[in-house]
Amino acid sequence: MPISDKFHDECGVVAIFAHPEAEKLAYLGLHALQHRGQESAGIVSSDGLSLHQHKAMGLVADIFTEDVLTPLRGSIAIGHTRYSTAGDSALLNAQPILVQSNKGAIALAHNGNLVNAQSIRQRLESQGSIFQTNSDTEVIVHLIALSREHTLPDAIADALRRVEGAFSLVMMSADRVFAARDPRGFRPLAMGRIPATEGHSRDTIVFASETCAFDLIGAHYEREVRPGELIVVGPDEVTSRFYSTSAAQSSCIFEHVYFSRPDSVIFGRAVQTSRENLGRQLAKESPVEADLVVPVPDSGVTAAVGYAAESGIPFRFALIRNHYVGRTFIEPRQSVRDFGVKLKLNPVRSLLEGKRVVLIDDSIVRGTTSRKIVRMIRNAGAREVHMRISCPPTISSCYYGVDTPSRSQLIAANKSIDEIRDYIGADSLAYLSLEGLKRACGEGEPTHYCTACYTGNYPTEIIDVEEILPAAVRR
Ligand code: SF4
Repeated sequence: MPISDKFHDECGVVAIFAHPEAEKLAYLGLHALQHRGQESAGIVSSDGLSLHQHKAMGLVADIFTEDVLTPLRGSIAIGHTRYSTAGDSALLNAQPILVQSNKGAIALAHNGNLVNAQSIRQRLESQGSIFQTNSDTEVIVHLIALSREHTLPDAIADALRRVEGAFSLVMMSADRVFAARDPRGFRPLAMGRIPATEGHSRDTIVFASETCAFDLIGAHYEREVRPGELIVVGPDEVTSRFYSTSAAQSSCIFEHVYFSRPDSVIFGRAVQTSRENLGRQLAKESPVEADLVVPVPDSGVTAAVGYAAESGIPFRFALIRNHYVGRTFIEPRQSVRDFGVKLKLNPVRSLLEGKRVVLIDDSIVRGTTSRKIVRMIRNAGAREVHMRISCPPTISSCYYGVDTPSRSQLIAANKSIDEIRDYIGADSLAYLSLEGLKRACGEGEPTHYCTACYTGNYPTEIIDVEEILPAAVRR
């Protein structure tokens, strides 16, 4: 099996308004957001009159060939890349969701997770609504269609006031794009612009989960879509309204620790800055006498750079990652110890032999992978292995769009730090403090963060979605 002892990425969304090859820019944007979801992807485009879609299981580059993109030619497009745990049947839940409604055809792509989707769905089904997917996102579409508001922007605002939880949304009709974030701003969503050129006479407005998508399509970052904001981009103007101002911001701090790419700006802040700060703060809080700072690639790299800079201990890539590991591979008949991890990572013996190593990673989920990596480093000749984690112990599940195991499977929810150290076989183990995490990510400058997976204090009421929705349909 591939390494699965990690939090799973969630989803990425992108929207393009007013570009002669909107579908191609959406495709490129999704490509840049591939790290946020690798199970399925889809694009809906508009030629100004009607909407066209293509969705499939797999990676963006495999799904969207020239033949697939040509019929999607349009000037407006939205796209979605999704994480799910199920097989082929999950195509049902691939996004964007495209529906015909009494307000015309609308398509919607969602990053996040609604915590009251099931109760809304039960109510709507009892009133005769027929759902086509088992994804929480579909309740938003039904609420828009059923809204008594007369205009589409009013109906969207009305629907968004009725759902609870995490949602960064891009939507489109035949001639408009809509972008919205939930009032707490859990998931990121940025707005950018491609200035008009000789080829096209007006600016192209773009939205994406992360700004790394803008870099690829030549857009420049303008600003975040703000928590509780609905932006409408139409043929004549861009308008903004706040459909809700009632909640305190609680943006996901784990986006800075792990999910987002270091070359992105999210919540108005460079991820690289936060991640390097995490490593520096970790070195201040938990110093150790050592010869090398070694990251677990790729997730621990930037924090390790910070740890090395702060501590003065040399940074070395002493674990090499094989980037070409597929989802399925053939194991040798004679079982090889730690086969899955060895397939993905290999230690550099010449660097590690006789050395005291500080090993940096961004999290420990179940502990099984950390244990294998520590053993691998020792077997390569390291004298000591000191594990440092660039966030606090993860003790609670996420209900806002990150696929975390249940509490019973989170090692830090069930063992003390000393017990975890013994389990993974390290000489020492230290996590970053909660205060250190917030400081490193610029809490209050001006973003306020959700830290519920480290504290168990959730910013919303929680209906246990794990009880109701299978993991396959959660984002
Ligand atoms: Fe992010 Fe954790 Fe909050 Fe989920 S619970 S939104 S992963 S900080």
